[in-house]
Amino acid sequence: MNIWFIAGEISLSILIIFFLLFSFFSLLEKEKRAFWRSIFFFFLLLLLNFAVFLASVPLRNLILRGFFILFALCILFLLLSPLRKKTTEITGKQEKIDERDIIFARFEYKEGTKVFEKYYARHPEYKETDDEIRKIPDILSSHHINKSPALFSLAAAEFDFLEHQLTQVSGKEYAGKARSSPYENTRMVKNFIGYFGSDLCGICNLNQAYVYSHVGRGPEPYGNTIELKHKFAIAFALEMDLKMVASAPQAPVIIETAKKYVEAAKISIIVANFIRRMGYPARAHIAGSNYQTVIPPIACEAGLGELGRLGILITSKYGPRARLGLITTDLPLVTDKPAALGIQNFCQRCQKCATNCPAQAIPPGEKTEENGVLKWVLNREECYRFWRKSGTDCAVCIYVCPYSKPHNTFHRIIRKMTEKSSVFQSLSARGDDFFYGRIPLRKKSPLV
Ligand code: SF4
Ligand code: SF4
Repeated sequence: MNIWFIAGEISLSILIIFFLLFSFFSLLEKEKRAFWRSIFFFFLLLLLNFAVFLASVPLRNLILRGFFILFALCILFLLLSPLRKKTTEITGKQEKIDERDIIFARFEYKEGTKVFEKYYARHPEYKETDDEIRKIPDILSSHHINKSPALFSLAAAEFDFLEHQLTQVSGKEYAGKARSSPYENTRMVKNFIGYFGSDLCGICNLNQAYVYSHVGRGPEPYGNTIELKHKFAIAFALEMDLKMVASAPQAPVIIETAKKYVEAAKISIIVANFIRRMGYPARAHIAGSNYQTVIPPIACEAGLGELGRLGILITSKYGPRARLGLITTDLPLVTDKPAALGIQNFCQRCQKCATNCPAQAIPPGEKTEENGVLKWVLNREECYRFWRKSGTDCAVCIYVCPYSKPHNTFHRIIRKMTEKSSVFQSLSARGDDFFYGRIPLRKKSPLV
């Protein structure tokens, strides 16, 4: 047995084991296409190995030597192509966003009211498009509920529950401040958030550029100036169930979205209350119109992930298949650093969300500048128009994103390698299309 034989056999075995693991995990994940394709490569390599054994010794050595050299060159190529990570670039001054201008606020204004008239007098540029979209039945309206009464009613019940929490978000802090150190406070807060169900939590200084300028919706008086002077922001993420998201844009996806918003509200309300009991001001920011900030860029600064092409945060663990929660406070804390995960480099190569978006709302090309930030700017009106057509929050882009794969050992290894090598990024983007489909099949949710 010579050295070429051993080296060639080891390389071949590594590939055989890789495809065996790939097919095993695909089977667990019920990914039929990925399973059949990976098992095909597994048997093909096994057959090749068998044929090599049957070949004459000189031919066998020649094949194995060739195979090893090819394998070694590929590994070298991957290692020698380190990724120059690009993340969100701040290109100019970021102005505060007025919550009255965001799409969810605009669609709360009722025709014939003073708010409606005044708003569109100030912003005639939105009027025509918004009026067109208003003709489509609203999300969770009776039109959609009639299509699937049980599922849409369940989602509506979840949002009703959230409505009842909107006034629980703040309060007066207790007298007498706890004397624990910032390190101890951080450990406690992260532990408690983890205990209540989120294992992805980060802290940053509250950047005033991400605090809304004026109240646009929710229980606080419309048009009031927002004064949120807290020093820190605690951001956390909750994983959405892949089986529910896989039915996007059908009803189960909005049930899952609302479920995670309810959980995020519970966590942030309890932990904000806990902080106030420690003697420090704190406010929970919850979905269902109670945010005083734009959350994704804050979560980005807190190290939870990066902004993706699809316009939302891609978390380090669950990709975009997550919902965010936020608490702002003056409790002394230790901040985290923004994460550089190579996600935006990957988005540059992938574009799968743009291909699959039923509203063509995701830009397939380069980033553009918006409010002092270079990013992929979502066509929010077209996205929201599709939400009203489907009666849900769609989430097709979340489902198809390669980063939404389960957080298991196999995908963790792929993600780690994607983080390191630019060649691997290209391979992995093409591989995702080949094994899972450029337009992945939707699946039946457990609730249907
Ligand atoms: S689908 Fe691809 S391009 Fe879109 S957000 Fe995910 S990784 Fe980025
Ligand atoms: S949620 Fe749906 S419509 Fe909106 S960007 Fe994603 S895929 Fe497109």
